[in-house]
Amino acid sequence: MSTAQASKAIPAICNEGCGEQFEVKGFQKERLPGAVEKTFFTCPHCQREYVAFYTDTEVRQLQDKIRRIQSQLQNPRADQAATLKKIKKTQASIKAGMDRVRVAVEGGNQHV
Ligand SMILES: [Zn+2]
Repeated sequence: MSTAQASKAIPAICNEGCGEQFEVKGFQKERLPGAVEKTFFTCPHCQREYVAFYTDTEVRQLQDKIRRIQSQLQNPRADQAATLKKIKKTQASIKAGMDRVRVAVEGGNQHV
């Protein structure tokens, strides 16, 4: 069995910068006005910044909520189907929230 799955490095190509390949080994966080948090990584070659996602207080609350729901999966007596359904629903809310915050922060500006 390979343990490659355990590696957290994500291969990426700097397609908006120098075009070099690199591995994303972790995300950086930056606090923006309005309690918004930007999660991003940078190309080690040219320092081009890539935003993974934005969160605000509401999205972070949903992320806490999903962690709580996920921990219910450890309980063998819990209703797994209902729990998975809740996780899916919360994930959709998180995604919608992240999209909403991104539009609010970037104002619909298109990156070249
Ligand atoms: Zn680059």
